[in-house]
Amino acid sequence: MNIAIDGPAGAGKSSIARLVAKKLSFIYFDTGAMYRAMALYYLKHGIETKDGAQVESRCDEMDINILFEDGEQQVYLNGENVSREIRSEQVGNQASVVAQYPKVREKLVSLQRQMAASSDVIMDGRDIGTVVLPDAEVKIYLTASSAVRAGRRYKELQEKGIECDLKKIEEDIIVRDRQDMNREASPLRQAEDAVLLDSSDLSIEEVVERILSIVRESR
Ligand code: C5P
Repeated sequence: MNIAIDGPAGAGKSSIARLVAKKLSFIYFDTGAMYRAMALYYLKHGIETKDGAQVESRCDEMDINILFEDGEQQVYLNGENVSREIRSEQVGNQASVVAQYPKVREKLVSLQRQMAASSDVIMDGRDIGTVVLPDAEVKIYLTASSAVRAGRRYKELQEKGIECDLKKIEEDIIVRDRQDMNREASPLRQAEDAVLLDSSDLSIEEVVERILSIVRESR
């Protein structure tokens, strides 16, 4: 069985998918991490991510591998575990830039499909229900207002002791939404058969409960 969760940055997809995966004994697969790993490579090599021709011509230099250690996804970029390094705001914003290029997407989508074919997965991203797993048994489109999403991100960073500015976080979220929703290749949108969940006024536990009941109904 496959569960697809799509939605904009900061909607709570990863926290929620991780909990649902635990309850159902599924593998939680975070596809954004792969786009982040590619973005990290371009950043490290001083490649301008707005230069699409350059980005696409260097796609094959990267070997992206996903392994699960103690049930947690680890991302390897050319043999190096970059799971921590890819979590910065800078890498997230650059991931949204490189994710617009078709060659980048082709490379990652084929890997994602292979992973989903071999086990029960709950996969989150932007194009899972529309492109990667169009036949997923359950599809969720998880969203929340940009103010709520920025507030959550701010809290998360503060708890980690990272200096941040709420206004700048919300601005970045709005730019990222615009980029992800308006690109030509696999834009972020709700699949026709996806259930819309707005988590603005719901707790993580409430969203998890709703998804579990959707899964029960689909079985
Ligand atoms: O989900 P996360 O914030 O880690 O994703 C980083 C960026 O990667 C997104 O803003 C989006 O542009 C891109 N992405 C994508 N398709 C996916 C997952 C992520 O385009 N399936």
